[in-house]
This record gives sequence, structure tokens and C-alpha cells, in this order.
Amino acid sequence: MRVVLLGAPGAGKGTQAKKLIEVCGIPQISTGDLLRAAVAAKSDLGVQAKAYMDRGELVPDSIVLGMVQERLRQDDCAKGCILDGFPRNTSQAKALDEMLQTMNMPLDAAVDIDVPLEDLMKRLTGRRTCGSCGQMYNIYFSKPQKDGVCDKCGGALFQRDDDKEDTIRKRLDVYTSQTAPLIGYYRDKSLYKGINGTGSIDEIFNNICSALKTN
Ligand code: AMP
Repeated sequence: MRVVLLGAPGAGKGTQAKKLIEVCGIPQISTGDLLRAAVAAKSDLGVQAKAYMDRGELVPDSIVLGMVQERLRQDDCAKGCILDGFPRNTSQAKALDEMLQTMNMPLDAAVDIDVPLEDLMKRLTGRRTCGSCGQMYNIYFSKPQKDGVCDKCGGALFQRDDDKEDTIRKRLDVYTSQTAPLIGYYRDKSLYKGINGTGSIDEIFNNICSALKTN
């Protein structure tokens, strides 16, 4: 099964992708994670990407498409994958169609986790991640027991550079202008599945599974 996860920043794509990979046994391809890894490794691509990410803008397709193609060619993607945060604009969606067609791996669905824009701000400004184990928290909705410390491993929690308020506004604007048009793109291909993203994590997950008919 190959699924694209659509949805604005903060809609819960990463959280739902992690649950889906457990159930479906296929990998998650998160372009945000791939780019953050390149930034951390200070590779040439990472250095180029960081400036765009810090401004809340999309990293150019010339950087992102190569990364995705390389990842899709790895053996673990043969059975399928969950694409999280990719595509982010119509040109990436068209490039993905071409890549998948060449590899004879059709897309099964584009799942859109729909959360009202006003809720997204709190989700994103409150988001904290453990630097050691990657566990996510939210200081408004799912606080750690001790401020700044991971419940699971005791690691220090940090706020992503691009989760600061000004950058978040920019990322939400970019979503509205460049990514939201993908709703129409996938509707036209009869692949679109809109999911209400405002319930509990498990409720949203169940709705996604029903839409995908995997449970
Ligand atoms: P995310 O973790 O998916 O919210 O991505 C964080 C940042 O990485 C975004 O604000 C963009 O700067 C960049 N990014 C992630 N995925 C893409 C993509 N498919 N195309 C362009 N830029 C991306």
C-alpha cells in the first residue's frame, strides 16, 4: 500500500504515520525528517535546506525530489510506504506520479488530516520533542510530568527552530497557498480521503484505517 499523508503542519501527520507503519509494516518517508537529518549531518544539501526551513519556506524541489527518489528505491519500500509531508506542491505531486509510474508502484490513497487553522497554532507553538528518544509532547495538551524533561527516558525536551511563532505563520501561509491545492489534485484522481483531524489520536487513526480499509 502506498499512501500520501496530506494535512497542514501540526495536523498530526507524523503521529498517524507512526501508527500506520506499526499496523501495515511499511516504512514512513518523512521529507521533514530526511531534511532535518541532512541539516544535522551538515551535508551540502542540509546546509542549503536549512535556510529555507528556518524561514518556514518550502525547500526547492531540486533538493527534495532526489531525496525521495533515493528513498523510494530502497528495498523496504517495495511493499509500500507512507509518504508524510510529501508532496507539498503540485509540481512535487506530478513528479511523484512519474516516479511511481516508472517504478510500477501505484499510489492507493491521499489521506488529508483536516484540522481548523486556528487549532494548529496551539499545537505547533506547544510542541516539544525529546532530544534523546524523539518522544513528542505538547505543553498545552500532553505535558511531560516534569517541565522540559522526557517522561520516557529523562532526555531534555527542545522546541524545533521552525516551531517559533513567526515561522509557524509563514508555514501555515505556505500550506494554504502551495499544499492545499493538492486536495483538488487528488480528488480529480479519485484518491482523496478527507479525515476529521480534531478527535483523539486513536479516533483519528480509526477513521484513517476505515478510509483505507486496513482494519
Ligand atoms: P515538516 O516536518 O514536514 O513540517 O517539514 C519541516 C520543513 O521542512 C518545512 O517547513 C519545509 O521547510 C521543509 N520540507 C519538508 N517537506 C518538504 C517538501 N516535501 N518540500 C519542500 N520542503 C519540505
